[in-house]
Amino acid sequence: MPHKHAQILLIFIVIGVMLGITSGWMFGSTMVSVAWLGKLFLTTLKMLIVPLIISAIVTGVSSLGDIRKLGRIGSITIGYYIITTGIAVFIGLIFVNIIQPGSNLQFTTASIPDYIAEKENIGFIQIIESLITPNLVKSASETDLLPIIVFSIFFSAALTTLGQKGERAIELFSAINEVMMKLVVWVMYFAPIGIFALVASRLGEAGGGEAFWLEIQAVGLYVLTVLSGLATHILVLGLILTLIAKRHISYFINVTRALFTAFGTASSTATLPLTMECVRENGVDDRAVEFTLPLGSTVNMDGTALYEAAAVMFIAQAYGIEMSVTQQVIIFITATLAAIGAAGIPEAGLVTMVIVLNAVHLPLEGIGLILAVDWFLDRFRTATNVWGDSVGAAVVDRYLVKPS
Ligand code: ASP
Repeated sequence: MPHKHAQILLIFIVIGVMLGITSGWMFGSTMVSVAWLGKLFLTTLKMLIVPLIISAIVTGVSSLGDIRKLGRIGSITIGYYIITTGIAVFIGLIFVNIIQPGSNLQFTTASIPDYIAEKENIGFIQIIESLITPNLVKSASETDLLPIIVFSIFFSAALTTLGQKGERAIELFSAINEVMMKLVVWVMYFAPIGIFALVASRLGEAGGGEAFWLEIQAVGLYVLTVLSGLATHILVLGLILTLIAKRHISYFINVTRALFTAFGTASSTATLPLTMECVRENGVDDRAVEFTLPLGSTVNMDGTALYEAAAVMFIAQAYGIEMSVTQQVIIFITATLAAIGAAGIPEAGLVTMVIVLNAVHLPLEGIGLILAVDWFLDRFRTATNVWGDSVGAAVVDRYLVKPS
């Protein structure tokens, strides 16, 4: 997208978010009538994802040339994910221990929906199992990206061994990839309207400003804890961006369109097409964009990890259950796994939180305490997730061996 257009679009997106908040706040449930516009935007983005990531990964991985280089880019990427997710959980635990949002809380337990209560545990083995699917088409139809990513990586690895025959196929995928990115740019022009509608209708669904404000106040300190933790982590990632990836504030500004989209859609998967376009516009090597970002959108969720740790500690405090250092280490590990296992869709983190609660034997009903404000916090943690992915691409870019 031309730079001038990108700047103007960003201004319109900011206006869209502000109008969304103001109208949802003032007109409440009336704004649910614009929900279809937001859904249209979200569906269009989702439509692009599967062909986009397949063509991007095939192009990106095969352009590494020697498939052994995949090991290098893969280990930098995974190393970055693990370290930054760990930092995020740590920040969450520090804030929740200092602020103690759950102590002295007056509450009545609400009932929790079945889809949360019935969530099965995710351990290391379940995560490995989720890498492979018996049916690619079914996974594609459910936007279950992880097995599709794994398949695409193996597919391109095999393709590079075919010599000339393989090259023709790679050219085709590369052309499809370019077409997909062009479509992304076109869809991006609708982002201001789409984001406006998503924000306004969701706030309307929550009953408008006054009703929503009451919900927030009931768990005000908890909201403050999560938001300050996320803000701190965003700054830490900024530091990594400057010191390790050697990038500047302009990188952040260029990615803001994707961050606002993440805020509007509450889905890092749906935002992926925009994240890729924005990071590419920042001059990040295609190989980093095409490999790191699709993978990151499904497994690298710093915001979700931070939130899960903070939320579980909050629930423990509200129930007056002391969490020892050992239990907090268990929370640290399981919150990291739960974030990896969470899909990049709205409120997925709330569902996988069951794993963390189970691990430290806390009552599942505790989720009822944070249910009402989860959709709101989800938007901030999704934006943090996308920011984490974008910084990751810059870090990988820095350590890629560039052709001379
Ligand atoms: N909505 C988040 C995402 O798409 C996941 C979560 O619920 O934390 O990244």
